[in-house]
Amino acid sequence: MTILNDILDFSKMEAGRLELDAIPFKLRDNVEGATTLLAVGAYEKGLELLCDVAAEVPEVVVGDPTRLRQVVVNLLGNAIKFTEKGEVEVRVETESRDKEGVCLHIAIRDTGIGIPPEKQRHIFDAFTQADMGTTRQYGGTGLGLAIASRLVEMMGGRIWVESLVGLGSTFHFTVRLGTAERTPEESRGPAVSLTGLRALVVDQNAASRRILESLFSRWGLRATSAQGAEAALSVLHEAKRSGDLFRVVLIAAQVSETDGFALAEQIHHNPEMGGVTVVMLTSAGQRGDAARCRRLGVEAYLTKPLRQEELREAIQTALRGRGPETGSSFLVTRHSLSGPSRKLRILLAEDNRVSQQLAARLLEKRGHSVVVAGNGREAMMALGKQSFDLVLMDVEMPEMDGLEATAAIREKEKGSGTHVPIVAMTAQAMTGDRERCLAGGMDDYIPKPIRKEDLYEKVEQFVPEPNAPVATDLPGAATNRPDS
Ligand code: ADP
Repeated sequence: MTILNDILDFSKMEAGRLELDAIPFKLRDNVEGATTLLAVGAYEKGLELLCDVAAEVPEVVVGDPTRLRQVVVNLLGNAIKFTEKGEVEVRVETESRDKEGVCLHIAIRDTGIGIPPEKQRHIFDAFTQADMGTTRQYGGTGLGLAIASRLVEMMGGRIWVESLVGLGSTFHFTVRLGTAERTPEESRGPAVSLTGLRALVVDQNAASRRILESLFSRWGLRATSAQGAEAALSVLHEAKRSGDLFRVVLIAAQVSETDGFALAEQIHHNPEMGGVTVVMLTSAGQRGDAARCRRLGVEAYLTKPLRQEELREAIQTALRGRGPETGSSFLVTRHSLSGPSRKLRILLAEDNRVSQQLAARLLEKRGHSVVVAGNGREAMMALGKQSFDLVLMDVEMPEMDGLEATAAIREKEKGSGTHVPIVAMTAQAMTGDRERCLAGGMDDYIPKPIRKEDLYEKVEQFVPEPNAPVATDLPGAATNRPDS
């Protein structure tokens, strides 16, 4: 998977077809997320992993969060791969700041094998590895650094390395990012009530139209729906004639994405329809979509699967209009919406590296934070150190399996009145499996291989209601809860 993605990315860059997004995101979350993602690998080798974002670094920056994270993950992955003992540290500092934005300096330092001087110049070239002996021991494609260096260049920065053989390496890079005082929600106008506003749902799928329409009605919107672009345009024209204008158009690009974007474009270029807020909902987020949306005047862009609360928040935010200082470049996306009220702190107990990464990535994409444990015993240790809103527990694990760990957790909870939700994950989709998990003290069950929709649905049923009391701490666990 990694090799394939690397090659795809690389050929896209070679062809100049890689577009960067420019959306507001929280820098600290981004970098810390990258670190968390690779933490298991580091801890398994007994390495110390540190992440230090200097206090003066702006909280919200404007850029491409996915690509920035990709560079950090890449360098951090290498640092962990080529280090046998000691530590790996990520440091983020501000190099300079001006009216346009900020230049950040990110350094990834390791105490690993180091790179000889004559090799240092070439490692940023495609398909180059410091020496073949290393490759055989460590594996890899030799593309990681080439991709990282191009991405850095595209982000207006540069990349370099300082290294001493036997002592370690520090990879440095800089990036230019825009700044925003606040996230787009915070910098928008006052809240608007949805009650009585006209909204149009454009979706090819009848069931989906029905669901969205009834959802809209529940929020007090006056909803109408259309099956495709043509029908939508005629409804919009009709509204114009009658004077009862639409305020929101939700384009759910169900089947044909081009159709959805084309409709957005037509609405954008039609001055008669000025003032209508367009929200795009797509099933497959493509990199570069954000740039496209902005060009087409789309106010908010969301990918499926969608949470109702998220859609409502996005519509409300989009309707609030753009604050004077934010200019026209702000798009409401999941990255800017992921309000802390919905974030879960999840412990993922899973021994398979690929499943770990997959689940962690999917969960983090939704704004949850994830700590990974490699088996039941590690999960117990993690629970003793900090509190979690939920545990995702693989059933088959070495040392201490999911059922044993669950039994131990439930035993510890006895008498304390606490109950941390545990969701089992198991590959054996056999009848009776579910029952076995539930009987073993687990709260729910997800079959493997994990499907994104399943995962979100099962996990997010445990999102606490705002202001609901939370009592998931194990006795003896630290009490400093994440700011949820
Ligand atoms: P690979 O997929 O081989 O890791 P990269 O382009 O990421 O490809 O790295 C190229 C080469 O640079 C690696 O094979 C390795 O020899 C060297 N290298 C990269 N990072 C480090 C590091 N932190 N410590 C030592 N050597 C490194």
